[in-house]
Amino acid sequence: MSFWYAQEGTPAPREPLTGDTTADVCVVGGGFTGLWTAYYLKKASPFLRITVLEQKFCGYGASGRNGGWLYNGVAGRDRYARLHGREAAVRLQRAMNDTVSEVIRAADEEGIVADIHRGGVLKVARTPAQSARLKAFHAAELAYGEHDRELYGARETARRVRVAGAVASTWTPHGARLHPAKLVRGLAQAVEALGVTIHESTPVTEIRPKHAVTPYGTVRAPYVLRCTEGFTGSLKGQRRTWLPMNSSMIVTEPLPERTWERLGWEGRETLGDMAHAHMYAQRTADGRIALGGRGVPYRFGSRTDNNGRTQPATVLALRELLADLFPELAGARIAHAWSGVLGVPRDWCATVALDRSTGLGWAGGYVGSGVATTNLAGRTLRDLIQQDSGQSGPTELTALPWVNHRVRRWEPEPLRWLGVHGLYAAYRDADRREATTHTAVTPGLARVADRISGRG
Ligand SMILES: Cc1cc2nc3c(=O)[nH]c(=O)nc-3n(C[C@H](O)[C@H](O)[C@H](O)COP(=O)(O)OP(=O)(O)OC[C@H]3O[C@@H](n4cnc5c(N)ncnc54)[C@H](O)[C@@H]3O)c2cc1C
Repeated sequence: MSFWYAQEGTPAPREPLTGDTTADVCVVGGGFTGLWTAYYLKKASPFLRITVLEQKFCGYGASGRNGGWLYNGVAGRDRYARLHGREAAVRLQRAMNDTVSEVIRAADEEGIVADIHRGGVLKVARTPAQSARLKAFHAAELAYGEHDRELYGARETARRVRVAGAVASTWTPHGARLHPAKLVRGLAQAVEALGVTIHESTPVTEIRPKHAVTPYGTVRAPYVLRCTEGFTGSLKGQRRTWLPMNSSMIVTEPLPERTWERLGWEGRETLGDMAHAHMYAQRTADGRIALGGRGVPYRFGSRTDNNGRTQPATVLALRELLADLFPELAGARIAHAWSGVLGVPRDWCATVALDRSTGLGWAGGYVGSGVATTNLAGRTLRDLIQQDSGQSGPTELTALPWVNHRVRRWEPEPLRWLGVHGLYAAYRDADRREATTHTAVTPGLARVADRISGRG
């Protein structure tokens, strides 16, 4: 499925649900969102009976397949600033900065060894247009209170990582590299050890107030939490809620020490660029490069998964990208390629919510930045449930602007397919033009695409 599981092996399966039952809280989905929520709820209220229902196994989704960037980005921050004011968005950003440390702290407390290395996040620019966007991005991040962010020219960038053609970069300490499968597996074990019940191989077909329905029985609970991210469309009534966007990755074989001497990358920063079709990469604990980005962005009818299988054309595009970034890796052996789905809301804004009248809650729509955001979502769902059940009042987390945000649904097919493919064609074309014409101005079509998608 993903290299992370190819390396680790898939975990021993847990028992499915075997009939109707009850719980105080039922969590649907055993990824980071569901597991962090169960973790913090159970820690806060050990008496709660919490059941997690997972269709395959914990970490089967994006949580076990991602690029391992634990970082402070949150989808929708700029829109939240427009909707709720800048101060509210700054609070959200601060909460995200703290979340990076919280994940590392919690993993440490639970004895989860997930190859975490806090080297920060380095984003590089390789064309004049990327450079202009990078400087604007850097300035925007400073304005959101990231005073520890640094801006580098070509020479300083090369001192960190020798990326071909890099003309500038921006670095923040609020990020770490990790091994996703090790984290999600360790978290599931920690949650179980606290006394949470996890049923695997148990697909939920319908969520309705106080009920999670599966082919093997129904869990009745005052609170039912939907934590299904890119798979949400397969639930009854949710087809147009969050669009399942694909992202694909490749990983090299371990690279020889002499290659690393030439590439640098001693800080193990997570590495990204400012292209419209973003690239993201990490130097793994065992000396490989894992790199992701391009792929078929979206399948007709919100189809999601084929267990991570990846089209040859996508693997080729990622290989070419790797060689473009690091020319000496042109012939490097690729050990594994895989894909996964992330959830994209119509306005590109991540949310966490609890409907107090029905007891239904949900969190997600993280787009490509859920490794840290899921943790903030888990702690926020804990606070929302504690508030609703009278155990505590409002907290700093329940007052964040992404709480209880509502967004309109995606268009029906074929508009959805046409729209998303149109957007990505515009982004690919813009990247090509920026690379060949050396213009410093982002092409108009890409700016229009940002506005239409809600990404800008
Ligand atoms: C290739 C790729 C690379 C990424 N890289 C990064 C990165 O480097 N940094 C970053 O911050 N983010 C990254 N992301 C995004 C990040 O991984 C996700 O935002 C995050 O893992 C979402 O966690 P989740 O628990 O909400 O969703 P998931 O991990 O998808 O978990 C949802 C779970 O729900 C289960 N489920 C779904 N439907 C049902 C049902 N009906 N019944 C029962 N169970 C169900 C699924 O099997 C799954 O286990 C990446 C995503 C992908 C796909």
